[in-house]
Amino acid sequence: SGPLDKEQMQGLRGVREFLKVRTSYDVLPLSFRLVVLDNDLLIKKSLNILIQNGIVSAPLWDSRKSSFAGLLTSTDFINVIQYYCQFPDEIGNIDQFRLSSLRDIERAIGVEPLETVSVHPMRPLYEACRRMLKTRARRIPLVDVDGETGREMVVSVITQYRILKFIAVNNEQHTMLLKKPVRDLGLGTYTNLATATMGSSVLDVIHLMVKYNISAVPILDQDNTVLNLFEAVDVIPCIKGGAYDELSATVAEAMSRRSEDFGGIYTCNEDDRLDSIFDTIRKSRVHRLVVVDDDNRLKGIISLSDILKYVLLYGEEDDDIRSG
Ligand code: ATP
Repeated sequence: SGPLDKEQMQGLRGVREFLKVRTSYDVLPLSFRLVVLDNDLLIKKSLNILIQNGIVSAPLWDSRKSSFAGLLTSTDFINVIQYYCQFPDEIGNIDQFRLSSLRDIERAIGVEPLETVSVHPMRPLYEACRRMLKTRARRIPLVDVDGETGREMVVSVITQYRILKFIAVNNEQHTMLLKKPVRDLGLGTYTNLATATMGSSVLDVIHLMVKYNISAVPILDQDNTVLNLFEAVDVIPCIKGGAYDELSATVAEAMSRRSEDFGGIYTCNEDDRLDSIFDTIRKSRVHRLVVVDDDNRLKGIISLSDILKYVLLYGEEDDDIRSG
């Protein structure tokens, strides 16, 4: 191994140390707002609240038990859509479903319920990261216990995006050492890619996401040129107002409904180095990178979990996650 490898390992070790001496609490901004939804709310209404607040997920609260009841994410809406596909005659009832019915919907369509893990905000950030990789959770609620009442409180939600942003902004002295190109690291997925075209229906793309267990599908033209990326969160405006029959609309139509502040998609090249990917994360709201060649043709995709996995686990002895 050359000097580049040595420096790379030094950078990785530095970032890991940094994650061990910071807590999840450190990642939270000084002041923030948290939208928590009551489990008794109609699913239909929860969609409107998410859209109005410009968010894509929220913790759920069981007010009868006064306890945290899981996280609402785009996966739940995709489950409702699958339910609609399997039981089209139920369309009249779907409107009446409450957030508390989401577990029944999972059971009806036969998906494994996502393990709802939470972490204490004062535990090391490194722990939250390991837990995310282990459970494949993209976001974890930070749950504390109120000293007076002994009740659970959801402080906030920590995401892979927030953690990588925190590293990029606060640990540049180590990320700048990560000079090896994406190609050498094998970072991301390059074979068996799920893709679609502008003319694909939203429903087709949702089925791809379910089948591959992914949250974004590159949209290509006939020459494999990358035109766009359809993300699981794009599903939310599609089913607003219970318009499940409109899921036969094309991806092009659905993407035209994106909100004004949609930041666009991010691409990179296989020769780009990890330090420059951290620069992109520092400067922009990136959730995944599409890897393209010089002609903008699709080569691969790098998700935030790919980056987090590499940063945490590469070269570690007790590497129980990558193999699992
Ligand atoms: P998020 O991107 O929402 O943070 P995630 O990191 O789990 O979540 P996914 O997009 O679900 O990202 O990706 C999971 C794995 O699947 C990653 O290893 C990623 O490289 C791979 N992957 C992502 N998109 C595709 C795709 N369209 N086709 C094939 N594999 C993909």
